[in-house]
Amino acid sequence: MNVVVGVHTDVGRVRQGNEDSYLLQAPVYAVADGMGGHTAGDVASATAVDVIADGLRSAAPSDGAGLAELVTRANEAIWEKARSDPALRGMGTTCTLLMIDGEIAHIAHVGDSRAYLLRDGSLRQLTEDHTLVERMVREGRLSAEEAANHPQRSIITRALGVDARVQVDVLREEIREGDRILLTSDGLTSMVDPSSISDVLSGQEDPQGAAERLVEMANAAGGEDNVTVLVLDVVADGAPAPPPAAPARTDTRPGAQPNVEPSRRRWVRPLVRAFAVVAVVALVATFAARWALSNSWYVGTSEDGVVTIYQGIPEEIAGWTLADVERTTGIPEEDVPEAFRDDLEEGKKVSSLEEAETYVSNIEERIEEIQNATERRTDGRREGDRS
Ligand code: MN
Repeated sequence: MNVVVGVHTDVGRVRQGNEDSYLLQAPVYAVADGMGGHTAGDVASATAVDVIADGLRSAAPSDGAGLAELVTRANEAIWEKARSDPALRGMGTTCTLLMIDGEIAHIAHVGDSRAYLLRDGSLRQLTEDHTLVERMVREGRLSAEEAANHPQRSIITRALGVDARVQVDVLREEIREGDRILLTSDGLTSMVDPSSISDVLSGQEDPQGAAERLVEMANAAGGEDNVTVLVLDVVADGAPAPPPAAPARTDTRPGAQPNVEPSRRRWVRPLVRAFAVVAVVALVATFAARWALSNSWYVGTSEDGVVTIYQGIPEEIAGWTLADVERTTGIPEEDVPEAFRDDLEEGKKVSSLEEAETYVSNIEERIEEIQNATERRTDGRREGDRS
């Protein structure tokens, strides 16, 4: 099978920049939706697409596992960048990657961008969102309807670049001539309901026209987010030949271990040897502690009263602080809603940086809700005054 592609991306009506990226490298297609302050989200999604494009040029994957390997590689690259540049801390991206292989579409997926299949006029979502609300729907705590309008629907539980490892969903779908596949960032699906999306995909024959129409609808509905839409029409083989393979590239990924030779110097004097033993024990203990701490995070408040993500533990041991600042959020202590205060004061322990970021997002969303509610109340009062 082959595909004819329509693609359109737009910043939307609210955001300053477009942090979505996409990839068209037949027979592979992807959407990545970046997140993070300033331009960090843009860096994250662009890095994902670049790393995947490079991987495709050196060796085309043969199945879903190969596709997932590319996503894993992208995760490592983004994670390394985020760690080495403080301005990029906490950045991440979704990635929905699709490869056409004969009668099969392989998909590797992380986050809340989506793949849909339109067949015989009915639209089916292929991917599952990695979001808090989706998890709550699965657990029966929220209806699909409630989830679609939930104020925290955009909080994702999995993304590339926020941890050293990432779990990638791999899917396999049989395809046939006449199928239409949609890859999209949540800028479309959070603004336009599935039945309207289905109507456009069924009614608009030209894939490019369909992609543009969908973006237009997202913007008409408020355009609260960047929106990227790929429409892929499955056609029979025969027309365009696959692109020529690019020359193999050397793998320049970071991660090569420097060769550190332990000192082979022999200790002669017993006293020196005793010191050496103590030193080694202390060193091992320190490394063990550092290892344990490097796998712990918590969210607390800094001395100057700003909500901060720490790596380490909030407790002091023998007067030693066992935490480093991972990221200062810029949320002043006094803005923090009551519900979070006790936890923050003690230090809210979480098991990953991703979870810490999710927790901070929750605080931010809650603050926004409270501010909106206050504004509404204020407006209401003004109305009252006038009458
Ligand atoms: Mn988005």
